[in-house]
Amino acid sequence: MAAIKENISRLLQQLAHTNVKLIAVSKTQPVEAIREAFEAGLVKFGENKVQELVEKHEAWPESGIEWHLIGHLQRNKVKYIAPFVNTIQSIDSLKLLEEINKHGEKWNRLINGMLQIRIADEETKFGLSPQEAHDLLLEHPFRNFPYVRLTGVMGIATNTENEEKLRQEFRLLKNTFDKLKQDFFFADDDFFEISMGMSSDYLLAIEEGSTMIRVGSGIFGARNYTK
Ligand SMILES: *Cc1c(COP(=O)(O)O)cnc(C)c1O
Repeated sequence: MAAIKENISRLLQQLAHTNVKLIAVSKTQPVEAIREAFEAGLVKFGENKVQELVEKHEAWPESGIEWHLIGHLQRNKVKYIAPFVNTIQSIDSLKLLEEINKHGEKWNRLINGMLQIRIADEETKFGLSPQEAHDLLLEHPFRNFPYVRLTGVMGIATNTENEEKLRQEFRLLKNTFDKLKQDFFFADDDFFEISMGMSSDYLLAIEEGSTMIRVGSGIFGARNYTK
């Protein structure tokens, strides 16, 4: 697992003179790999499945890891992660937002949330269109959700090597963020995060304004889905 430490130090060097945050996407990776990355200095980890997230949290509950959920979340599963999750990056409906707020209240916790915006054509079914995100905030002022702190937006770009297409999608997310900020969070310091960029495209994403990249295989190596 020496490669994990080397990958992390290379990434941290690239981010050294930026304010860009790094989420280590540990899906399918064993807890030992998470420990390795944690010892190399990473604190923020991302998982895309609720059950896997809960298992990893329970395997090492005292770690101090800041867990981010980055995959689709069903409303009936919010209860499993509400006691410990730091940020839910994949809020894609009003109903889900209401459910997170409800469980935040139950645990008396402020849960960070990000609106997932659909920026790829057909690549993912999930996420709000920019207009839907705007309408949601217009119709449901964010102060109605006192147990959710909305920190920004998240997007998943098309899986392509076409640089111009990737840049267009990242720009769409940046523009969506700017508009939401201006219209709903103008005087609000909490709304500042643009989560975009993965192992193959994070440098482009940073050039286009990313404040948070989500890197899996670039840290842990290729994923083994057959395990
Ligand atoms: C898996 C995943 C990543 C990381 O992908 P890599 O290409 O391995 O860096 C980032 N974001 C989301 C939402 C993911 O599901």
